[in-house]
Order: sequence, then C-alpha cells, then structure tokens
Amino acid sequence: MEALSYKCINCGGPLQYDPKKLKFACEYCGSDFTEDELAKHFGKLDEKLNEESKLEPEKTESDDEFGEAALYVCQSCGAEVIAETNTAATFCVYCHNPIVLSNRLAGSFKPNLVIPFKISEKDAKQKFYDFCGKKKFLPNDFLSDAQLDMMKGVYYPYWLINSLKDGGVHATAERRRTWREGDYEYEEKKIYKVTRYGTIDFKHFPHSALKTADDKKALKYVNPFDDDEARPFTMSYLSGFLAEKRDLERNDAQHDVDQELSKYAEKIYKESIKDYDSVTIDSMDLKTLNESWEYALMPVWLMTFKYKDKDYMYAMNGQTGKTYGELPVSAAKLGIFAAVMLVVVFIAMLFLGGAF
Ligand SMILES: [Zn+2]
Ligand SMILES: [Zn+2]
Repeated sequence: MEALSYKCINCGGPLQYDPKKLKFACEYCGSDFTEDELAKHFGKLDEKLNEESKLEPEKTESDDEFGEAALYVCQSCGAEVIAETNTAATFCVYCHNPIVLSNRLAGSFKPNLVIPFKISEKDAKQKFYDFCGKKKFLPNDFLSDAQLDMMKGVYYPYWLINSLKDGGVHATAERRRTWREGDYEYEEKKIYKVTRYGTIDFKHFPHSALKTADDKKALKYVNPFDDDEARPFTMSYLSGFLAEKRDLERNDAQHDVDQELSKYAEKIYKESIKDYDSVTIDSMDLKTLNESWEYALMPVWLMTFKYKDKDYMYAMNGQTGKTYGELPVSAAKLGIFAAVMLVVVFIAMLFLGGAF
C-alpha cells in the first residue's frame, strides 16, 4: 500500500498545513513553504493520482484478517501499521509521522476540491473551553474529570452537486378580508390560481459522502461551509490531518439528493408567490437540465471524550467555527434552576393574589 509523507524540504521533518500562516510548516526547523513551493518539489505525487492503473492495487495479505483495512509501512520509522477502510490520511501510531494514503485518493477517488482548515488546533481547543464555560448545567468537575481526547482535525468527504433545474408550480392562493356592518361581520375570501415557472441553478449543494450515521449527525450540524474558499485538491493539504475516504457513491445518494433539491425548489417557487394570506402548492413539475457532482474534502475539528462511562462528541467546522456539542448535564444544577423558577412563579402568584 502506497504511504506518503510530506517532509520538510530543509530538514526532513514532518510538514503540516498551518491555517494561520496559510503555509505548510515544519515544527522542527521552523521553515514554512507555500503551496507552489511544495508543488515544485512534490508535484509528481499529485499527477500520479490521475492514473489509477499506475498505483498498486490495494489488496494485501491482511485483507482477510482486517476486512478492507490495509497494511502500510511508515516511511519514517519502518513500522507496519493498519489503516481502516475509509482512512485516506493519518498518523503513524509509533512515531506520529503524518501519512497520506495515496491509493485511496487515486482515480475516481481523487477529490476535485478541498477547503483547507482555517481554524488552528490551538484556537479550536480554546473555543471548546469557552463553549464549556458558557454551559450553566455542566457538572463542576467536568473539565478535570472527563478524559478529553486530543482535538483531531479531520477532512470529511462530501459530494458537491451542481444541478440546473427547470420547472414550476401550480398553487392556490387566498386573500381574506373581514369587516363589520351593524350587527353583521362579513368575510370575503378571494381564491387565486397561481403559476410560477423558472429555472433554478443549484451550485455546490452539499451532501455527505459517508454512510456512517454517527458522523453524519455531527457533520450535519457543522454545515454549511463557504465554498468560495474551496481550492483544487492537492494531497499536501492532508499532511498532518486525518482524512476519510468516501463510501457513499453517486448512485446510492442520487435519490436522496433529488428529493432534497426538489424540496428546496418547491420552497423557492413558493416564496416567489408573495402578497397573499396563504399559499398552497397543488403540483410541481421539475426536470434536470444539467447536473454534475464534485467530490470535496471539508475540514472538521473533532473531540471525543468520556465522562462517567458515557461517550460524548464535540465537532467544529474547521473553516467557520460553527460548533455541535454534546455535553453532560448536571442533575443537581438543573434542580437548583427548577427550584428558582418555582419560587419566581410562586411570588408572582402571591402578588396577583394580593391585588384582588
Ligand atoms: Zn524542517
Ligand atoms: Zn512511524
């Protein structure tokens, strides 16, 4: 199995993308390099990804034993390490050297786009502590007792769908007005048949390219990403981070995506029917004029932790900082809050009682 590591051009130390400098940095000698400099030095590595046949097939002797997991040899310390089925970038567990598994990024698995990390590991950690600080019901001993796993930077696989739709809706819209004359109240209801037609151009509509439900939940809540900052993919961005390879193909996702886009299209048509008291969609026609799917890797900071034998997950969009967090709730603190609420209600009622 092909294992790559991006080494410092000066000293051979491991290189990691530094979101603050927007460069690839070596923590050993302090050098940093631009994407162009790395491309000049490592350029051929990325070219190889386009020619699937030139890379060794992924099958190894260990296939039976580990399912689709594969063995690779760390180029830094020579240790043999197992990579999970969907791992595309990782670290050597023995020497912590960053490793990119190029086989899993080759051919049709070569991503078109990558959004690089914009939030550094240090800032991600700080944000996690700030997030915990704001939670009133967190147990007092939480941060000292929980077993916090290191914050992990993970590139997650997404489909970005460009779809040009043509269609429209037939709708029933109403305008109502009421007025009084003497003892009578009148209501007038005008019913309109409304039609809206037009093309809708969806650009980079995101859909997770992973089947795993657990990950999806966190991934859903850290959306959206700003695709203005997406760049053509090069493997060097993965160096020093974890990366997952997609396991959800276009054929398997097409139905869900069609439904989601259709839902958005209906909403867009409906919102264009203005100035009525109510609008009901009776029917919609929608056809696809043109559609292309791009494969992209998106940055997410993840922290998992154990507290009193339960697992929790905290995720942060590595570009925008949007967070999703599960935190334990202290029953004792909730109790105090409920008690305070009861007292407030009680006082208010006494006050009202006295007024009568
Ligand atoms: Zn160096
Ligand atoms: Zn190693």
